Amino acid sequence: MTESISGKSTFDWHAIATELAPVETISEPVLVKKRSRDFFWYSPILNQDLRRAFGDLVAVPKTAQDMAHCLSVAFAHEIPVVLRGGGTGNYGQAVPLEGGLIIETTSMNRILEIGDGFVRAEAGALMKDINDALAETGQELVIFPSTQDIATIGGFVGGGSSGIGSVAHGMLRDPGNLIALKVISVEETPRELVFEGDDVNHIHHAWGMNGVITEVTIRAVPRRDWIGCMATFDNYPATYAAGYALASADDVSPKLVSTVDARICAYFPRLEGHIRPDKHLMVALVPAEDVAAYRDLVTRHGGQVDLTMSEDELKANNLPHVFEFSYNHTTLQVLKADRSATYLQVGCPTPPDPQAIAALRPQLGDDVWQHHEYALLNGQIVTFDLPIIWFTDEARLRQIEATYEQNGFPVFDAHTFMVEGGGLKNADYRHLAWKKRLDPKGLLNSAKSREWKNVRHLPADEIEAMTPNS
Ligand SMILES: Cc1cc2nc3c(=O)[nH]c(=O)nc-3n(C[C@H](O)[C@H](O)[C@H](O)COP(=O)(O)OP(=O)(O)OC[C@H]3O[C@@H](n4cnc5c(N)ncnc54)[C@H](O)[C@@H]3O)c2cc1C
Repeated sequence: MTESISGKSTFDWHAIATELAPVETISEPVLVKKRSRDFFWYSPILNQDLRRAFGDLVAVPKTAQDMAHCLSVAFAHEIPVVLRGGGTGNYGQAVPLEGGLIIETTSMNRILEIGDGFVRAEAGALMKDINDALAETGQELVIFPSTQDIATIGGFVGGGSSGIGSVAHGMLRDPGNLIALKVISVEETPRELVFEGDDVNHIHHAWGMNGVITEVTIRAVPRRDWIGCMATFDNYPATYAAGYALASADDVSPKLVSTVDARICAYFPRLEGHIRPDKHLMVALVPAEDVAAYRDLVTRHGGQVDLTMSEDELKANNLPHVFEFSYNHTTLQVLKADRSATYLQVGCPTPPDPQAIAALRPQLGDDVWQHHEYALLNGQIVTFDLPIIWFTDEARLRQIEATYEQNGFPVFDAHTFMVEGGGLKNADYRHLAWKKRLDPKGLLNSAKSREWKNVRHLPADEIEAMTPNS
């Protein structure tokens, strides 16, 4: 029997690898350990909890048939399974807490069909490759994360929620954005199901717990001639107000609006010489034909436009995509310099209120540096704060969260690996009902759900009926 890398299993991994053939497997401990990690280390709390959690074997299917074979082997031996795309999730979503089999999807990466307003791709396709293929047809993904260069479309559907495009087109879960998901079950003979329309949300953001996505059909939108824009301001509430004005402007149609505290910008060495130092920053992607109106808007709000460059001009100036200063990339830029930083995820009162931000800031302390993202939610512009926190200990972190909450800013815990604790806040009984239907032995990433152990013995319909207002 081969030794267990996770220390949590008693399977004969050599025999399992033989059974998985012809699917490629990886058993070299260093490589298995590398594929057991995601970006959980953003959180010092999760880093403590998860850094020694490893899988035992990695399988790399190339087709949906290969994937079905892996799942039927896992089912026969009752092996815990964690799916992995690019491994860029932030909460240990792809960490195999119970050891077992990691199934890496990145070789299932074909772009299968592009039509007017949609693209259909295998789950392991990188979003950058999808966007490159769409560009040839004058289109682009409706929403994609700032990790598009290394993250997969299946991982985005499994673990993500919003991103570049959300300020114009809403959340990934909003009607019309995800068109269809092909999913297979973990059974002796895996079944294939297709979820369409609103039913995609039975699977979306379930962290790979309730079925394996093999194909994603997602909305594509006409590609514009996007200009990366950076403007600077003297104070943060004014920057936040300009961000709101830009996100809701009639004469500018951005696909990205982010505002960043000046202290964070000091950690952007690549922007040195391109933006004014010691100023608060607004990052945006604006269509070329709207840049004049964008400039007027910035001036009206007391700011200065420092940079307007197309993607080609950014490249020529050795600058990254502007979205690498937005979403969780902002945090990453700081972490590259100093690992004692971490972050929070906080909602903000709607409609966005610069006065509320101004009132909150003095209460937060010097160890909290704000950064907001703007998005469309239920037809309204909303903002999310992803502040940099200079971590001292958990007590201080929770105190900062309490300050936000007391001021009417709801916190979505970024320091838990439980699906119910973070983005979802509460258990999603539709997800758990589908888990019961498609993963009856509870092999898929089950350790990430607090509620699963309470409902796993119930029939699926009974679990579904626990959905509030169902
Ligand atoms: C720097 C940085 C920036 C980020 N920016 C954004 C952002 O803008 N917007 C955003 O929403 N998120 C963002 N994230 C989080 C994450 O990058 C995205 O959600 C990303 O799309 C995940 O894709 P992935 O391929 O890396 O998925 P992984 O991390 O590999 O997986 C994510 C989850 O999906 C599951 N999964 C993977 N493949 C499948 C499958 N085929 N079927 C079922 N489940 C599956 C995994 O088990 C895991 O639970 C960011 C993270 C970082 C580190």
